[in-house]
Amino acid sequence: MRLASYLNTAFNGFPASSKLLIVFSLSGGGLVAYSESQSNSATNKTEIEQLVKKKKVVVLGTGWASTSFLKDLDISSYDVQVVSPRNYFAFTPLLPSVTCGTVEARSIVEPVRNIIQKKNGEIKFWEAECTKIDAANKKVFCRSAIDANLVGKNDFCLEFDYLVVATGAGVNTFNTPGVMEYCHFLKEVEDAQKIRTSVIDCFEKAILPELTDEERRTNLHFVIVGGGPTGVEFAAELHDFVHEDLVKLYPVVKDLVKITVIQSGDHILNTYDCRISDFAEQKFARDGIDVRTGCRVLSVTDKEVSMKVKSSGENVSIPHGMVVWSTGVSTRPVVKDFMDQIGQGKRKVLATDEWLRVKGCEDVYAIGDCATIDQRRIMEDIGAIFNAADKDKSGTLTVEEFQDIIDDILIRYPQVDLHLIDKKLSRVTDLLNDKKEVDIEGFKLALSQVDLQMKSLPATAQVAAQQGTYLSSCFNKRELAKTLPEGPRRFKSSGRHAFLPFRYKHFGSFAPLGGEQAAAELPGDWVSVGRSTQWLWYSVYASKQVSWRTRVLVVSDWTRRFIFGRDSSRI
Ligand code: FAD
Ligand code: MG
Repeated sequence: MRLASYLNTAFNGFPASSKLLIVFSLSGGGLVAYSESQSNSATNKTEIEQLVKKKKVVVLGTGWASTSFLKDLDISSYDVQVVSPRNYFAFTPLLPSVTCGTVEARSIVEPVRNIIQKKNGEIKFWEAECTKIDAANKKVFCRSAIDANLVGKNDFCLEFDYLVVATGAGVNTFNTPGVMEYCHFLKEVEDAQKIRTSVIDCFEKAILPELTDEERRTNLHFVIVGGGPTGVEFAAELHDFVHEDLVKLYPVVKDLVKITVIQSGDHILNTYDCRISDFAEQKFARDGIDVRTGCRVLSVTDKEVSMKVKSSGENVSIPHGMVVWSTGVSTRPVVKDFMDQIGQGKRKVLATDEWLRVKGCEDVYAIGDCATIDQRRIMEDIGAIFNAADKDKSGTLTVEEFQDIIDDILIRYPQVDLHLIDKKLSRVTDLLNDKKEVDIEGFKLALSQVDLQMKSLPATAQVAAQQGTYLSSCFNKRELAKTLPEGPRRFKSSGRHAFLPFRYKHFGSFAPLGGEQAAAELPGDWVSVGRSTQWLWYSVYASKQVSWRTRVLVVSDWTRRFIFGRDSSRI
């Protein structure tokens, strides 16, 4: 028996029939072979029973949202499969640093197979792209892009009980002519690597003999379209790379380099506190980075960027050596097709409810940049809320009756809290304006301004990661929630929601501005700028790394850069 179990371990990779054959021939047949086949079938049976009971979960993507979902998911009751064209997770906040070699590409990626390893089972990963979601039949169709010369089919289909869509977003060109053909993007690790090579190319080309000064100047004109956090951080990185490293290596052309940031709004970093955008604009002005606000790009060619200056209405063209396009996100084709199927075709972004369930679709969840939460308006439910609160059915609501439902209102409609802060009110009952009792019209009036506070969440890693963690906690508590619901009461029907709705907590955001200076917006309306903020940035981004391996690599890259500067080899 011990021999049989030893052999079972030793030959684990073999099919059951060959194990039987090996054991049979070694033992000379008889009892050992019999007991091996008996125990095998018993194990297989329980395994099969477990698999049948387990709900099939398919996860699309290996970005911020999906990896945080997978990290915390208890897979003892789920059979999980992950599909993504990328077999790694990329720490996107450090992508701008990869464009100039401050950090190496491999230092910011972690193989997804390391992340999904679990002690109590296996999560399967398939390197492929989902090409179609068939929500009605609960299937996803996938295609692998792995070398077509390798044998075997590249297409396959997976069935699911629950689907988690976390495919992120694509680039948004606003259909501007020439952008796809002539601009660099900064979304993926490969994009950052291409930018790095291109920057060096521009310098190597600019110093070739027999170029005019004008031609050298054009080759060394770097244009960044979009003055959001990514565009600004890239401009700052590029400025440091040029002035700390490249001017020493290409002294002949050092005075010909120019960096221009084109922004359609009136300020760069306009989603940040105005103190931060002012600081960034002043810093860029000192650094000689040309910030052109109020300009909308009309087209891009291999030689020029054409734009309309909003203030004067005139069209201007500027020659360039390289353009980086960084102007927000758009819906991926597979998600757009899915939206058409489920009646969301007229929307720009896939909508979910506050529990991250895709609207108009059973058992499909969407997290991260691919979706947005369509927050419920309190005015849509105002009649139902009034009726639920009016316990004595008097047709009026007393302060006490209102008090009774306040906690559920605050959980279900977070805009109420924001409204109270905005109006500097301390209690929800203050909304009743000292009235002891209101009828439905008075109640509507009291809450009429509340929905103005609804805001959609930004497309950031912070939101995506928190959504992933939240969703995994709901999956982990699914059975428990059937008997012990923890969510707010349902106003339109009876009972309670199974879970608390997703609530985002903002921990602040950074804007590195180059020259060892950064700006940060911290919770509680705090703003911090300067060198100390850059050190805070280093410590936060080191601590946020997904593994000790990447943490060590990133910190050693920063140290290498401090000591030796950035590497300008064109590889
Ligand atoms: P992603 O992280 O983009 O992941 C999407 C995943 O889906 C990828 O694995 C992709 O390969 C996969 N996928 C795509 N199509 C398919 C398909 N058809 N089938 C299956 N899988 C698919 N946010 C911050 O909070 N702080 C920052 O400092 C910050 N800096 C940034 C800097 C840059 C340069 C960029 C580009 C973004 C930055 N962000 C930052 C934003 C942040 O990266 C995104 O909000 C975040 O990546 C969104 O996570 P996600 O999981 O939704 O998408
Ligand atoms: Mg009443």
